[in-house]
This record gives sequence, structure tokens and C-alpha cells, in this order.
Amino acid sequence: MKLVVATRNQGKLKEIYRLLAPSGIEVVGLDRFPQIGEIEETGATFEDNARLKAETVAHITGVLTLADDSGLTVAALDGRPGVHSARYAGPAADDAANNAKLLAELAAVPVEQRSAAFVCRMALFDPDDNSCRIFAGQVSGRIQNDARGDGGFGYDPLFLVPAYGKTMAELSLATKNRISHRGAALRQVISFLTHHD
Ligand code: IMP
Repeated sequence: MKLVVATRNQGKLKEIYRLLAPSGIEVVGLDRFPQIGEIEETGATFEDNARLKAETVAHITGVLTLADDSGLTVAALDGRPGVHSARYAGPAADDAANNAKLLAELAAVPVEQRSAAFVCRMALFDPDDNSCRIFAGQVSGRIQNDARGDGGFGYDPLFLVPAYGKTMAELSLATKNRISHRGAALRQVISFLTHHD
């Protein structure tokens, strides 16, 4: 079985490849399809954007496609950055700029009131019958002021996982995959792919 993973985000790819490795599913990277440019995420929800990315890439490649749309939601910020997580601080924003903006927005909010969650929606689009299935995962935590750890990507250094007393960036790749929003969604994808023909 061949699967295109429709993302160029290296942080996501590393996590997804690690979990897919033992499944025997042959993963084809987007680098094999240089004609596919940036897909504009025009959806209002993680699910809409995951579906949009999977469907677009599946139609171009003709191959079963998995897309991940994910982000950080912070209750005290009415769910922001939400679907805008990747470009929270502007169109060319990098992780450092996004993290700085998040802390600035939370400056007046006490740390114990900074409940947050990483949310993931994965869309699996099959171009043979135009079917699309959605898988969901989520992990809860809290946004702390000091960035810690150099694993992961994005908001990981600020995201405290209370059960470990560590930020997501301080956890190993294996531990992050075991508890994360992406890991939870992807395990359901793998189970679906390996139990259906
Ligand atoms: P997407 O590529 O539109 O799905 O944007 C995902 C963005 O959400 C990333 O650029 C990060 O800012 C954030 N994000 C998603 N998953 C994670 C994670 O596992 N750790 C940290 N940040 C994440």
C-alpha cells in the first residue's frame, strides 16, 4: 500500500514517519511531486483544512493521501491561535515569532489559567472512490512563560504536559508520539489502513 503524506512541515513529517515505519505502509513524500505548491488553507476548521489538503494532493498524485491539520487552542484566548497557529504572528512568521506573540497575548493571564490543547485532524482521501475519512486527536496542557527543551517544533517548548512536569519539547520523540494529538489521530489511521482492504 502506498500513501502520500501531504505536508512539508519537517516536524510533522518526522513524527508521522516514525509512527508509520513499523506498519509496512510505503510512504511517498511530497518532494516527489515538485509541481504541488503551497495549498492555501482557506477552511474555518482543522477538519476543513485537512480535507482540503488531502483532496487536492490526492487528485494531483492519484495516490491515497494523508493530510494533517493541527494547532494550538488556548481557552483564555477564546481558542486562538487555532487554525491560524502556523502563521499566528504574520504570513512569514517562524516558530520563535509565534511563541513570542502567544506569550505577549497571555501576559496578563496567570499561568494556572492558561489551559491549552494541541488539536489534530487527519484526513485520508482515496482518489479511487473520492472517499474522505477524518481522524481526531487532542492533548491537554498549559502554556508556561519559559521556553524549555529542544525537541519537537512549533509551540512545544511552551506547552507544559502536567503528567510529566515537562514541556512537549523536553519529551523524547517516542514519548511525544505516545501522548500527542498527532500520535492519537495517526494510530487510528494506521488501524484503519491495516484492517481494511
Ligand atoms: P498547519 O500546518 O496549518 O497544520 O499548522 C500547524 C501549526 O500548528 C504548526 O506550524 C505549529 O505552529 C502548530 N502545531 C501543530 N502541531 C504541533 C505540535 O505537535 N507541536 C507544536 N506546535 C504544533
